[in-house]
Amino acid sequence: MIEVDEGICEKLGKRLKDVQVLPQKFLAEDFDEPSSRTSRLSSTKSQAEGLNRTAWMEEQRRKEANFRFYLVAFCQHTKSLQGIIEGEWYRGWDYLERACRRAMADDPDYFSADSVSRITGQELRRILSDDFDPAHSTLDRVEERVKQLRDCGQCLSAQYDGDVMNLYRQADGYLHGERGVLELMSEFKAYSDPIQKKSFLFLMFVSQAGIWKIKDPENLKVAVDYHIMRIALRSGMTKVGGTLERVLKERKEVDAATDTEVRGAVQEACDLLVRHSGHSVFEVDNILWMMGRNCCFYDHEPICGRNACFKEDRCTFIRSIVYDCPGKCLFDGACLGSLDEEYSKFWETNLYAEYY
Ligand code: SF4
Ligand code: SF4
Repeated sequence: MIEVDEGICEKLGKRLKDVQVLPQKFLAEDFDEPSSRTSRLSSTKSQAEGLNRTAWMEEQRRKEANFRFYLVAFCQHTKSLQGIIEGEWYRGWDYLERACRRAMADDPDYFSADSVSRITGQELRRILSDDFDPAHSTLDRVEERVKQLRDCGQCLSAQYDGDVMNLYRQADGYLHGERGVLELMSEFKAYSDPIQKKSFLFLMFVSQAGIWKIKDPENLKVAVDYHIMRIALRSGMTKVGGTLERVLKERKEVDAATDTEVRGAVQEACDLLVRHSGHSVFEVDNILWMMGRNCCFYDHEPICGRNACFKEDRCTFIRSIVYDCPGKCLFDGACLGSLDEEYSKFWETNLYAEYY
């Protein structure tokens, strides 16, 4: 029903070779903040400060890992989220992240296992609103998210002393293996996706921030969400025929097994794209995700082929990579969707999912 086209993956991978991905804002937090003061201290004092600094940095890393763990756990279907935080307009994931970080800035222990285990819908709406008024929040599927967060907080307390760093230690930094990170994470309901979208997204955050050092990085994969699925299907990286082709183009509902099959094939295609691009899995993930939120977005025609760009002023993709955009998608001319209207009609699977 669906298969990977290695030729297309290679062609598109080569398109990415010369693209430079800029470090993502908020990805690497400033864990070194107190160090600038130590050079002015006496050596004894500086040693003591050095120890304090190490402990301080450890604590920041621990907090950041736990923050990310909860953030990703309830990050699915963020289309409804939008608003203004600290004078800037954000939508989707960007809004979610800024709003939650703002809550953590007000209370550094906001995202602790203890408080997350008891979070309510009203509270979640409060932090995810521009002015902290729950009635003004645009968050949807609130009860579903509350359940995910509580389950994460409670399981983390019961099994890992409330600290996701202990999960990493227990797996000894390995993703695969009987009690590897991926298996341990899949025991949390929010992370039980067979295609492990949230696990790989979380791993990208903690790896890129230098908090977790993965010992078997060859097992990392792209976190397949609806944006990446749309690109893979439209581009021809994955080829679909028969009934599934019609179902996807007509945006008809699919069952969970079909969704897993499609996302599994897309993930396999992304492995090839990574290999042929020469980029890391995280860089390819970022490129595809940004492309899906900008050029190949769901609420307008893809910006390629005959369609010229109309959103340069608000494009977040060109601000994330070093790329002199000619007003068309980076894949234009190589992606089948830019050459053949039939391919541009493809859509991601239509399924009510809690995984992505
Ligand atoms: S400015 Fe370029 S990268 Fe951004 S949406 Fe338009 S075509 Fe795509
Ligand atoms: S070339 Fe067009 S169809 Fe292909 S990924 Fe880019 S915007 Fe989408």
